[in-house]
Amino acid sequence: MDCLFCKIIAGDIPSKKVYEDDVAFAFLDISPWQKGHTLVIPKRHSVDVLEDDEVLAEIGHAVARVGRLLKDKLGADACNVVSNAGGASGQEVFHTHVHVIPRFADNPGIGNMRAEVTADLDEVHQTLV
Ligand code: AMP
Ligand code: ZN
Repeated sequence: MDCLFCKIIAGDIPSKKVYEDDVAFAFLDISPWQKGHTLVIPKRHSVDVLEDDEVLAEIGHAVARVGRLLKDKLGADACNVVSNAGGASGQEVFHTHVHVIPRFADNPGIGNMRAEVTADLDEVHQTLV
């Protein structure tokens, strides 16, 4: 199957991993909306959280762990936890993923979620691992 995120899990495409367990894999988003923007994905292929009754619960533990990691290690005050499901929502990669987006008190609110910061991914990755 020609799926970008399946290739990332297989290691065929490199990623900056921040967390992994038996069922989930998490890595830095290549175009972060905020410093530390992370994607949590199931290891098995799944299209989106609405097409798959089980997947959100399956990766829920990983989402919580990643969110706490971003708070603890990056000093985030909060996170947005977002999953786009369907093209009109903005979903571009059709392998289920949850965006965990660190938020900081000096730039609060849902309207500021998509800031598209220019954070150094290597530096952020080093802070998290
Ligand atoms: P969505 O628009 O919800 O489907 O989100 C897909 C996300 O995947 C976007 O935020 C992209 O920046 C991100 N993305 C695409 N390719 C890669 C990649 N190779 N490594 C990390 N993140 C990626
Ligand atoms: Zn896939």
